Amino acid sequence: MSWADRVSPVVKAIPPSGIRRFFDIVAEMKGVISLGVGEPDFITPWHIRESCVYGLQKGYTAYTSNYGLLELREEIARIMQKDYRISYNPRNEILVTVGVSEALDLAMRAILSPGDEVLIPEPCYVSYKTCATLAGGVAVPVPTTMDTEFRVTVDQLEKLVTPRTKVLLIGYPNNPTGAIMPKQELEAIARFVQKHDLIVIADEIYSLLTYEGKHVCFAGLPEMRDRTILLNGFSKAYAMTGWRIGYALSNPDFIGAMTKIHQYTMLCAPITAQVAAIEALRRGEHSMQEMVAEYNRRRRLMLDGFRQMGLTCFEPKGAFYIFPSIRQTGLTSLQFAEELLKAEKVALVPGDAFGQSGEGFVRCSYASSIANLSEALERIGRFISR
Ligand code: PLP
Repeated sequence: MSWADRVSPVVKAIPPSGIRRFFDIVAEMKGVISLGVGEPDFITPWHIRESCVYGLQKGYTAYTSNYGLLELREEIARIMQKDYRISYNPRNEILVTVGVSEALDLAMRAILSPGDEVLIPEPCYVSYKTCATLAGGVAVPVPTTMDTEFRVTVDQLEKLVTPRTKVLLIGYPNNPTGAIMPKQELEAIARFVQKHDLIVIADEIYSLLTYEGKHVCFAGLPEMRDRTILLNGFSKAYAMTGWRIGYALSNPDFIGAMTKIHQYTMLCAPITAQVAAIEALRRGEHSMQEMVAEYNRRRRLMLDGFRQMGLTCFEPKGAFYIFPSIRQTGLTSLQFAEELLKAEKVALVPGDAFGQSGEGFVRCSYASSIANLSEALERIGRFISR
């Protein structure tokens, strides 16, 4: 038996990430403009980095409580109260995690029994289905379309809900489409969730990156606080991807169950990152808003650029992605991305990396300088008009 034969069949069955596969190729090439990776191009603001340096000088180098530093949990509770008027008890309703990635994994593992179904609106972030599968669940994609601006509807959900459905996983503002959900539509979803007695995992990592009005927090809707495991983090809004820090909020039973796994597998999130996260929440608003304003300028540039090329493009309302349709080129998403890379050295992500309903689209991240984006648009325009 080879070593490969001994890898768990569950893991073997997981398809390789559509994003990674593509960027392994890009890493080998020179002169490529990459609009592929979903990562801020800013460095973490200095005052946040500095707080970490001070923390180290003071000797903050040990494990923290499994739940995370109480001071950080108190700051998270304060922000939730200030921004959305939702109360969470810092002692047992907040868990600090290693990025939203860990929180997502823990939420699935804490809730799912083998065969439980998880409704996942698509196109969606690449980890959702894999986390559900690894936790023993069954991912049930709910395809959304550009006609409904990639917002999931109750009709779409009603068609796919079964007695085995346990969780609805929603992620708005959405990666890869940039879609957001207005309050009224979320309220309809909340009624659906109540009717079928489902648990909601709400990944709101892009909540601060909205360009048309304030984000609506799902846990803030009537009756939804305890039913929802709310996930958020610092990677995107504060340009802190490498610090690996996120958090989960919910009722004490769900947070307790997640913490039980976390205390055996991770112990705690890095203390250095927790100290920096406290600073981000206390004094990071101004620098965060400056970055958001810059993303908004870039969003307009990309939207106008794609529309001028004649591509149908839904106007993204949040996050830092734009998701133009490339159907009129007659190419599949993968062919478009591969041929564009070869011909013009621009890297995008084929839409089908985010599920079947992403076919016919490509995802471009505009977390890149205006100069890079302008050059990329020129190259894409040239490619399309060949
Ligand atoms: N959720 C979404 C929708 C994302 O786009 C990402 C990262 O791209 C994550 C979660 C993971 O975030 P973190 O860096 O906090 O693990």
